[in-house]
Amino acid sequence: MHLRSAHRSLLVVGSVALDDIDGPFGLHRDLLGGSASFIARAASYFTRNVSVVGVIGDDFPQRHVDELTALGVDVSGIERTPGETFHWVGRYAPDLATRETLETRLGVFASFQPRLGDAHCDAELVLLGNIDPVLQHDVLSQCRAPALVAADTMNLWIDIKRDELCRTLARVHTLMLNDEEARLLAGEHNLRRAAAHILTLGPSSLIIKRGDAGALLFHGGGVFAAPAMPLADVKDPTGAGDSFAGGLMGYLAYAGDLSPSTIRTAMIMGSVMGSFAVEQFSVDGLRDLTTARIQQRFDELAELAHFERVRL
Ligand code: AMP
Repeated sequence: MHLRSAHRSLLVVGSVALDDIDGPFGLHRDLLGGSASFIARAASYFTRNVSVVGVIGDDFPQRHVDELTALGVDVSGIERTPGETFHWVGRYAPDLATRETLETRLGVFASFQPRLGDAHCDAELVLLGNIDPVLQHDVLSQCRAPALVAADTMNLWIDIKRDELCRTLARVHTLMLNDEEARLLAGEHNLRRAAAHILTLGPSSLIIKRGDAGALLFHGGGVFAAPAMPLADVKDPTGAGDSFAGGLMGYLAYAGDLSPSTIRTAMIMGSVMGSFAVEQFSVDGLRDLTTARIQQRFDELAELAHFERVRL
């Protein structure tokens, strides 16, 4: 694997946030968070061609933006406007498997109107991180001819902006959701049936993220399962799904094709990056990774899922 050579362009739109996270490891305030923060970092290991569109307030530390620049990410689409940065407050249960949102302060996101630069409009791959589906749609309307549009969303938008979300989904190729969100969107508990229903809403493929149970890809009548790495130390699951999405889309940008086998490999790369993210708070698990470490964990996952076909 030779990472970061010439690649397809990846445009990331999402939240850039400050998070307060409570849970079995105590309360941590003002951590760097937001869908775009995790996605861009995870993708930056695979391609030098990542751009972020988002908004921050005047309380957002400039060092977080500078770090993205140092990773080769184009931050020209991150607007700083007067007001408070998007702030999310969440609490994890002792087993880290479930979390509740205690507070969501939209801050500068409330009046954000994404304006894409000329180069951003030509992005070949577009990843709409979890933000208001109206903003996701605004962004898509400005994109010229992306080869792949992937989107993430969450229960909040399914609950309060279902119609707007469906309007966005009609223009999305790949939707990524967790299992509870898939059930909520489809109104169906069984995941296979829920997936079949969601695939009638527009997307041609659906990725259902299931935390430490891995992720499922539904497409063209088939299903592919990517395992999650069994980890000895999990500190903060925040951003696992976004890091998965960043690894997946970053790898697709790197690989340069969208064949079914490349997409399967990209699912595993997503799982690899998600596994690094949860080992530390905020984006710390995604800091200072090397190609060798990414390769090693990729190989471990390949080994974990490998089995011989036998004939009975
Ligand atoms: P994940 O754990 O992958 O679902 O992503 C968690 C990140 O999503 C956190 O860093 C939050 O800042 C961000 N987030 C939470 N709620 C929202 C929301 N309503 N809109 C946008 N981003 C959000």
